[in-house]
Amino acid sequence: MRVNAYAAPAAGQPLAPTTIERREVGPNDVLIAIEYAGICHSDIHTVNGDWGPQPFPVVPGHEIVGTVTEVGADVTTHRVGDRVGVGCMVNSCGQCPPCRGGDEQFCVNGTVFTYASEDRDGTHTQGGYSTHVVVDADFVLSVPENLDAAAAAPLLCAGITTYNPLRRWGAGPGKKVAVVGLGGLGHMAVKIAHAMGTEVTVLSQSLKKQEDGLRLGADHYYATSDPDTFSELAGRFDLIINTVSADIDVNAYLGLLTLDGAMVSVGAAPGPLAVNGFLLGARRILTGSMIGGIALTQEMLDFCGEHNIGADVEIISADQVNEAYERVLASDVRYRFVIDASTLA
Ligand code: NAP
Ligand code: ZN
Repeated sequence: MRVNAYAAPAAGQPLAPTTIERREVGPNDVLIAIEYAGICHSDIHTVNGDWGPQPFPVVPGHEIVGTVTEVGADVTTHRVGDRVGVGCMVNSCGQCPPCRGGDEQFCVNGTVFTYASEDRDGTHTQGGYSTHVVVDADFVLSVPENLDAAAAAPLLCAGITTYNPLRRWGAGPGKKVAVVGLGGLGHMAVKIAHAMGTEVTVLSQSLKKQEDGLRLGADHYYATSDPDTFSELAGRFDLIINTVSADIDVNAYLGLLTLDGAMVSVGAAPGPLAVNGFLLGARRILTGSMIGGIALTQEMLDFCGEHNIGADVEIISADQVNEAYERVLASDVRYRFVIDASTLA
């Protein structure tokens, strides 16, 4: 079927309306009428060419919420009318050790990502800035009905990307967690860590968003532009989640970790990191994390449903997407732009 979408025609070019082909619904496929699609900073990195050549035109969008309108003959997990979500990936081999271990995002035979990725049939995937999408049922998540659909969309990437390291590194009562950068990912990290019972500190470039940070669930808020922040908080945190989309001085943050503390970088910094061996020598851990597997994503959605957690969103029409990109790049987002897909119809 031919559907409306918004695509980047070439690297660094503004997105514009277009139409794309969605495949016929196969036996294990689900056809979803998209309601909302979040704008992740990764969409911007991709279309701006930060991550190398892409198969343009690219329709970005991997924070998708919608309603099932058709299912293939073999689908038993989703029914017409269900509210569902699709995140950053739409297929994997299902056989390799990471896939069997619930880490489909690390499929050794190649995860098929939601856009700009080669699909099993040789075509390139196109993402959620569109009216409809056809996805293998195994990669379609159930979205709790009590959550607002627009607020739930960002959970599919920003939510799972922050839930995963918080869960893996034991966030919860008695733990001190710092979140670096209060953007889309950062604000989800604050909400989720707070709901887990963690003592949360935001480390932002300035105090401009302090009131918001405390409202979202942070216990403390510091400006990283103030050098005193780094002396005052030295050795404080069990876990630091770095969500910054740019290079930061990793050593300054490593100094804030306690013995055996871990800094997890989820932000996609462009440059190589310079790491001070003495800081790591204090048994500090520096690692990364990428989204999360399908089972963990469903666990995160259920957790958010239970705790009534959605993103703070600004809903936009599709023709405002280029302006929204500019605002994300200027750190002027509170805290996720979400495209209303009905404006694409
Ligand atoms: P975002 O909404 O733009 O948030 C990033 C935040 O980083 C900004 O709000 C800002 O926070 C801070 N920041 C930006 N530029 C900075 C600079 N030069 N120095 C210091 N701080 C700066 O972006 P997002 O959608 O949350 O994504 C964040 C990053 O995570 C992106 O690189 C994205 O590609 C990546 N990502 C990774 C995964 C994964 O699986 N690992 C998944 C999704 C996204 P303050 O204003 O509070 O300082
Ligand atoms: Zn994303």
